[in-house]
Amino acid sequence: MVTRRRFVQQGALVAAGAALTRSRALAAAPVMTGIQIGAVSFVDEGTDKTIDALREMAAVDTLFVATFTYGRGIAGRQPKPNPLPDHGKQEYDDNFRGGIFFTPHPQYYGQTRITPEKAPDHPGYDVLADVLPAAHRRQVKVIAWFEDVFRKDVPGLDQALEVDVHGQPGTRLCLRNPNTRAFWLGLVEDHLRSYPELDGLMWGSERQGPLNDALGASHGEGARPAQSACFCPHCREAARRMGIDTERARQGYLALEEWLAAQAQGRKPADGAFVTFWRILVEQPEVLAWERLWNEGLRDTYRDMYARAHALAPGKPIGWHLWHTNSFAPFYRAEQDYAAFGKYSDYLKVVMYNNCGGPRMARYVRNVSKTLFADLTPEETLQLVYRIQQYPSEKPLDRIPQEGLSAEYVLRETSRAVAGAAPNVKVWPGIDIDIPTGPGEKKTQPDDVYQAVKAAFAGGAHGVILSRKYSEMRLDNLRAAGRAIREVTRA
Ligand SMILES: [Zn+2]
Repeated sequence: MVTRRRFVQQGALVAAGAALTRSRALAAAPVMTGIQIGAVSFVDEGTDKTIDALREMAAVDTLFVATFTYGRGIAGRQPKPNPLPDHGKQEYDDNFRGGIFFTPHPQYYGQTRITPEKAPDHPGYDVLADVLPAAHRRQVKVIAWFEDVFRKDVPGLDQALEVDVHGQPGTRLCLRNPNTRAFWLGLVEDHLRSYPELDGLMWGSERQGPLNDALGASHGEGARPAQSACFCPHCREAARRMGIDTERARQGYLALEEWLAAQAQGRKPADGAFVTFWRILVEQPEVLAWERLWNEGLRDTYRDMYARAHALAPGKPIGWHLWHTNSFAPFYRAEQDYAAFGKYSDYLKVVMYNNCGGPRMARYVRNVSKTLFADLTPEETLQLVYRIQQYPSEKPLDRIPQEGLSAEYVLRETSRAVAGAAPNVKVWPGIDIDIPTGPGEKKTQPDDVYQAVKAAFAGGAHGVILSRKYSEMRLDNLRAAGRAIREVTRA
């Protein structure tokens, strides 16, 4: 594994050459062509009609149906102020709530205080009961797709929250809290026992550990050092077992908070931002140990879900959606060890959204330019990111928000994942189609989709997942995906 990974890192040409060889070898192998889709599309546009249209337009053979989320990313219609696409109901669903989109069976949630709420958005509608038979009649597979996104007012959530460095309840679920773990395992069991025709599961958690969070090292919200977590009793106990000193970790995160507050107030440390940060790490290495502790909580969740799913349905794949931050932040990327995933994954959906990737990369760079890389200009930070992330030829900071990242980025990210992943793990890159971006920022065009899909297969992908949800995609963009997929599968 190490040898293969090193091989890809040797250089651009080697990686591209390897990818081409692999794509030739792969041409004869069957590929998975998936699309993410929420209940609203079947309700609005008709189940049979929608599945037929997706097969016809985009050569789709697998539906990744959103079965649990409280978020707008994978369920509901396109939210305001984004334009509605050229299909579906032409009306905004501002009162979207979310929850479980099939019929939850209470017996699987006896071990958790978190209430398994049926999404009230489509009364009387069970997306799996509706879609499974219609899809299977057409030889289309159905994978249930659920994510780690809650609303604050979900009953019982207060029994599962993280505890921050100041001892205050956090806003997110602690992955070690028994209520959280039992909720995810209950969902796995409910899916597989109540809908035995299901073809597999996919889960995603778009979060990271306290160090990365404190630094604002993502394309999301900026630095939030005061909320560094988790210091709950379950995590403290896990630390004790691993021989990590909780109090020293806490002192380290408080030092980090102080350093970041000084930066935010424009008080530049005499030694600069980076050296001062590194000094905190050297003096309190427990800061890093706590970051690893957090990740172990996530990996334990993957391991438990994988074990439960395979105990119930040994032949059905379960895999993970890996957050876009993997493309921007070397810190998060280091924690996504593709080889290690081999022990608890059948496939990885690695997010490689190159269109919204431009604005998102720019936002990441601006976030970390205020913290860890405050000694550099944002453009210098971006160039550093390109080098460290092995992207040789992307555009400067004043152009990526409008122009996005290239298809070459998709190829490189795919071939890196294929080279790094264990042989038993399939790589299904996530391709973005019309994911909302800000005013004046990159909007997806048909040729972008065509090139990105081709690049994923040139990189050796075993399939692609068109993302994030059909209800925000324009039909000409979907047809472009279909053109690329048909060219690849005919080759
Ligand atoms: Zn905790």
